[in-house]
Amino acid sequence: MRADPIQRAIDEDLVRVLYAQDPIAFFTHWFSIALLVALYWVDMPYPQRFAACFIFYSLANCAGLVLWMCHRRWPGALQPRVWIYLHALRNALLYAAPGLAIWFAFQSAHTNLPLLHTVLIVTLAAGVFMSNGFDVVNFSTSIAFLLLPAIVLHFGVHTFDRTILAIVLAFFFGAINVYALSYRKLFQRVVQARIDQQTLAESLAAQKLVAEEASLAKTRFFAAASHDLRQPLHAIGLLAASLNDPAAAPTQHAKTADHIVNNVEALNQLFNQVLDLARLESGVTQVIRLHFLLSELFDRVGNQYWPQAAAKGLALRIAPTAAVVHGDPVLLERILSNLLSNAVRYTESGAIWMGFRRSGRRAGGYIEVRDSGIGIPPDEHKRIFEEFYQVANPQRDARQGHGLGLPTVKRLVELLGAELHLRSVPGRGSVFRFTVDAGDPARIVAGLDTAASGAPAVVGRRVLCIDDEPAILEGLSSLLGRWGCIVRGVRDENEALLALDDGFMPDAVLCDYQLANHRTGAQALAVVRDALRRRGRSHVVTLLITGDMASAELQALASAGIPVLHKPVTAARLRRTLEMLWQQPDLPLVLAASAQAEQEAPGGAPHAMLGPQG
Ligand code: ADP
Repeated sequence: MRADPIQRAIDEDLVRVLYAQDPIAFFTHWFSIALLVALYWVDMPYPQRFAACFIFYSLANCAGLVLWMCHRRWPGALQPRVWIYLHALRNALLYAAPGLAIWFAFQSAHTNLPLLHTVLIVTLAAGVFMSNGFDVVNFSTSIAFLLLPAIVLHFGVHTFDRTILAIVLAFFFGAINVYALSYRKLFQRVVQARIDQQTLAESLAAQKLVAEEASLAKTRFFAAASHDLRQPLHAIGLLAASLNDPAAAPTQHAKTADHIVNNVEALNQLFNQVLDLARLESGVTQVIRLHFLLSELFDRVGNQYWPQAAAKGLALRIAPTAAVVHGDPVLLERILSNLLSNAVRYTESGAIWMGFRRSGRRAGGYIEVRDSGIGIPPDEHKRIFEEFYQVANPQRDARQGHGLGLPTVKRLVELLGAELHLRSVPGRGSVFRFTVDAGDPARIVAGLDTAASGAPAVVGRRVLCIDDEPAILEGLSSLLGRWGCIVRGVRDENEALLALDDGFMPDAVLCDYQLANHRTGAQALAVVRDALRRRGRSHVVTLLITGDMASAELQALASAGIPVLHKPVTAARLRRTLEMLWQQPDLPLVLAASAQAEQEAPGGAPHAMLGPQG
């Protein structure tokens, strides 16, 4: 059986073809009526029956025309299949008259009449083949009425030449049916090809539209990104040049240096936001679900934004909840931080509310962040989730953000398997909401803050750093050294093995991903891990640091739970990650840890970048 849409398309084409021939057929049948009446005029057996038969023929011909007109006027009034069956009925009536009328020829004394009538019937049959051969019902009804009575009657005469004629007619009947069958198959193939072509053209057009939109979005993305990245770079360039001014006082130099640090900070933040988004897109972000008390997460995020809200005279209300949820606390914290930061930024008076509501009978519920701020016009509800899109910042003032918060939130919510909903009325405020799964209180492992507060000390830890870039190795060594770590920097796995032979037993191995001689960090770490295992040290923390984003190998490593940090790595991020890994070396939590570390801990180490190359 064909799929319905294809059968329907075939039927629609059939209807068009069948009805297209009808006006010509109408005149052909009047001609046939006139010819037959002329043939029988001289010797008309059973004149009344003959008249009745030919009146019926004329009426059937007129009915056919009426049907054609109805179809022309109201083509959509009936299903294509119904139009096809109605046409077959019209054929049965129309061809029954000339087909059966051959009986009169056999009643006549005029011996040529059966032959002349047969010639006319064969001519009509050829016409039927041309005009109705595409459809089995229309073809069979017409051809059977036309030819079968003639074949039977010629056989009934029992003379040699009439029997031969009957056989020829029967052969013709069989042949015309076989031809009609292949005719129909050809027709179906043509229609099928047309439909395929049409579907292909439609899907190509749709793909073209998507590609055009994507290209437009990319252009907008790059225009905004290059602008936002250029601004602080430009400022840094100017400020750095002014450091060369010998006339400037030392206090002026210190001020300039401060400005440079601030701009580097802004650049770093923007970079991190863009890279976070890219990481989310490339699918390397891991989701680590835990059962935890939602109130702990609320308190933690609320504490970050409470001072900002208070400074603007806004009330930040966090609804008390005893809910236990099952989700990734780190990713949820990033979502809520972004939403709260927006709520504070776009609200001038009133309150901000963050809370959890149970949804119906389901055990889970949804988290909502509401504000009484400026709201978002309905026609912007879709676009605010595009990268770098901002509703009212045409001058792209960096102090008003970069338009990356909501796209990140949307992707994070989707990564957690939920959907982000927005309700907003300009002038009245906005509500962002997404669902979370219920957690099991019996499976809460530890409070969310234990990682930070109970983090093991880094002082005295031995760290082996592998990087073929001497500047990065030096930067890392001095940073880790300042934290009180004992560091050994090596350029490749061979030097790392030598360090182990020297008796340097590390608590952690940090390794760049792309090393010299086409070796990857993953290969180097595998060699070092093996060597450590042979020395009875199987629980050493290993950490890959990479500037690559979407390599298949990195994706595989991330999904296998191999800790990976993406450059640029800030000092705080590195420290938090190491602390978490030393606390739970078996947990594949590094990507999550990296994200968490992004929320700089109060009093945490200042930002420092490990160079972007690698
Ligand atoms: P950013 O806030 O950095 O500009 P976002 O992606 O977070 O970028 O938000 C995109 C745009 O959506 C903002 O420019 C702002 O116009 C609008 N928006 C986001 N959150 C709110 C909110 N709570 N109230 C009003 N407008 C908002």
